[in-house]
Parts: sequence; structure tokens; C-alpha cells
Amino acid sequence: MAKKIQAIRGMNDLLPAQSPVWQYLEGSVKEMLAGYGYDEIRMPILEQTALFKRSIGEVTDIVEKEMYTFEDRNGDSLTLRPEGTASCVRACEEGGLLYNQTQRLWYTGPMFRHERPQKGRYRQFYQVGVETFGIATPDIDAELILMTARLWQQLGLSDAVTLQLNTLGSNQARADYRDALVAYLKEREDKLDDDSLRRLETNPLRVLDSKNPETQALLQDAPELHDYLDAESREEFDTLRKILDAAGVKYEINQRLVRGLDYYCKTVFEWVTDKLGAQGTVCAGGRYDGLVEQLGGKPTPAVGFAMGVERLILLLETLEVIPPEVMQTIDLYVCGVGAGADLAGLLLSDRLRSEQPWLRIQTHCGGGSFKSQMKKADKSGAVYALLLGESEIEAGQVTVKDLRGGTEQQTISQDELLGWLTDNMS
Ligand code: ATP
Ligand code: MG
Repeated sequence: MAKKIQAIRGMNDLLPAQSPVWQYLEGSVKEMLAGYGYDEIRMPILEQTALFKRSIGEVTDIVEKEMYTFEDRNGDSLTLRPEGTASCVRACEEGGLLYNQTQRLWYTGPMFRHERPQKGRYRQFYQVGVETFGIATPDIDAELILMTARLWQQLGLSDAVTLQLNTLGSNQARADYRDALVAYLKEREDKLDDDSLRRLETNPLRVLDSKNPETQALLQDAPELHDYLDAESREEFDTLRKILDAAGVKYEINQRLVRGLDYYCKTVFEWVTDKLGAQGTVCAGGRYDGLVEQLGGKPTPAVGFAMGVERLILLLETLEVIPPEVMQTIDLYVCGVGAGADLAGLLLSDRLRSEQPWLRIQTHCGGGSFKSQMKKADKSGAVYALLLGESEIEAGQVTVKDLRGGTEQQTISQDELLGWLTDNMS
């Protein structure tokens, strides 16, 4: 036998048994986004490498270590998108969507990062991204957060996630703070680990992210970002907090929350859980007012977030909050044995589909004994099996068998069947 070729590490198949949960989550998210008047946008998975270098930042983990970059046949440097925001900005610019108008957009699809695969961290993973353009006021920041809070509520995740909130201030405020932080850390360089030393040179704010306990202890007495905030950012942050308070959304202010990407300013937030081990952030975002201009457009305020689909699915599974009906994908399984049974089965199923389009019907194909067909019916997860034997076909009848064992098996006329199903299936 030929040697089997395996999937790439960290890139997973989504097998049919898992699809209902994915569809449930994606369906809930889409419904929620429609309820807020957001429009879908789809971008290519490949972009020019320069797009990500210029937007995410040269000295970020993503650009330094995680991108899938290669030369195509023309010698152009291309990259599999590690995230969606940069592509979305590029697409909006190219499509003329940012000229004198506001946009509320969403997308979903795979992202690619060359990280060490583990639970909740993969090399191909899915995000739902939401981006808004042209609105500078914090009411839109609040809308995005309220939207996610509503989603957690609907999915039964509210008790398992907390909102971490911060403001990074204006670019100037952040630059001033960076200088103060660098001065403080330089005096204590001997106490810093290698990673933090490197960050101190390249991207000092990321030292705040350090997981090293000694570095975190050192940061206890470091200058605080909020002492450097500009008046505008401070006011906008207060407004955001007032809206969240009024709407009953709880949050923790976390001054160390800086996010890994260069383009953020002002509001940043993360929804985190302690139920998934180290991969605790399920949704993260913030304001990026400078990015459109950085990518060659006119200055355009923008704010957005991205959710990690796999982590949300893991959370739904861990908390066991997936409604049982989600896993049931078939209502009726139609079986037939004897002469003409295959035709009769297909015709009966078709008639039912025409008259009751909401019914999900699987028609047995491929013949086999009554017993083997019933086994398949049981396995299908259907509520009822409809049986067609020669006598039923001749008499225009059908035998209805309750696969969950509630009601007695009975034989009724096919004309009566619809009424019977309507009465017996809620
Ligand atoms: P982390 O700190 O966990 O590496 P991040 O800050 O790199 O996350 P973002 O770039 O903000 O992540 O992406 C938004 C969301 O996408 C994350 O909060 C997470 O839920 C999800 N995500 C990011 N990287 C991965 C990955 N490699 N595998 C699965 N999900 C991921
Ligand atoms: Mg990361």
C-alpha cells in the first residue's frame, strides 16, 4: 500500500461530527451581527507580505516569527494572512468604502501563524473579525463590546469570561510613556530576562506583557500608562466606561493590557477565560485610528475585534452549554424493503420536502435488509423512521417508528402522514 500523506502539523480537518457545533456558533454570530446592521466582507487569504509588515509592525511576534511567507512563481513575496484587519483595510481602500462614509463590517475565515501547536493554539485557525471605520467617538467602541457581551449571554458563556479593558492613549501619550518606561527599565536592566531585554530595544511596551514573575514584580513600581494619558483619551475612556456601566457590562481595568500589534491606540480590550489554560483570550480588539493612513489612505478612525473560533468552541464544549438540538441534524429517516421500495422512498421524501420544507429527511439508499436499515436510522439521530414495505407501498401507507421510543409504531396512510408529523413533532 502507498504511504499515506498526512496533514500539516497544527492544521486541522473539521470532521462532520464537529460541524454542527461550528455551524451553531457561526450561525449565532451571524445572526447577532445582522441584528446590529453589520455587513459581510470577504478578502483573499494571500496578500503581499508588505501589507502585514507595514500594518502589524516589524518587531511584533507575528511578523518576526509567525508568518507563512514565500515567493510565488513571479518572485513576489506573499504571505498567508495571520489576521484580517490589514486585509480588511486594504480591501476597503481599494473598494472605495472609506470615502466620506462609515462602515460596519465583519468577516470570517482561516488565519495562519507558525506557532507551537497546542490546545487552543493552531497554525491554521479561524477568526470572526469585526471592523468599523469612520467613527471616532467611543460609542462605537461600546457597541462592539456590548455586542460581544450579548453573544456570550446567548451562548451561555457569560459566567466564564471577563472583560479586560484599557486605553493606550494617543500616539503622543504612548510615546511619552514609552520613554518613561524605558528609562525606568534601563536602570534595572540586570534584573530583566532576555526576552524583555530584547523587547526593551524593539517594542518596550510589550515588556508589560511579560509572563516572567520577576519582570512582573519589577513592573509593580514602574511608571503607569494612565499617568501619561492625553485629555481626549481620558475623556473618551470615561465615556466608554459610563456606557458599559449603564448597560451593566462588568470589566476590569488592566493597565498592562497593551496588545501585541503596533497599530492599536486608545481603547483596547480582551475577553479572557480561566477555563482553557494558557490560551485564555477568546476575543480581542481595540481602536486603530492610524492604520488606514499608515497603509496609504486618508486618516480614518477605526475600531474592531477578532474572536478565536476554536477557543470559543472549546469553551462551549468545556462548559457543556451546547443545546442538544444542535447535534440533531436529521428529523426523518426513510427506509424501504422489497420491490419498488427505492423509488417509493425517494418519492415520499420528495413529497414531504415539498409540503414541509423545514423537515430534514435522509432517504436510505443502497438497499440492504430491514435490520441493517434500522441500524442506520438509529445512528442517523432522526426522531422517526418511516418504513415502506411492499404492503405499505401497495396500500399507499407508511409505517412510522419512533426511534426515541415514545409512541407505538403505527401504520397510517401517506396522505395522513403530514398531519401526523405536524401533530407529533414540535
Ligand atoms: P495570544 O496572546 O493567545 O497569542 P494574540 O494576541 O496573538 O493571542 P490576536 O492576534 O489578538 O491574538 O487574535 C485574536 C484572537 O484569535 C485571539 O484572542 C485568539 O482567540 C485567536 N487566536 C490567535 N492566535 C491563535 C492561534 N494560533 N490558534 C487559535 N486561535 C488563535
Ligand atoms: Mg499570539
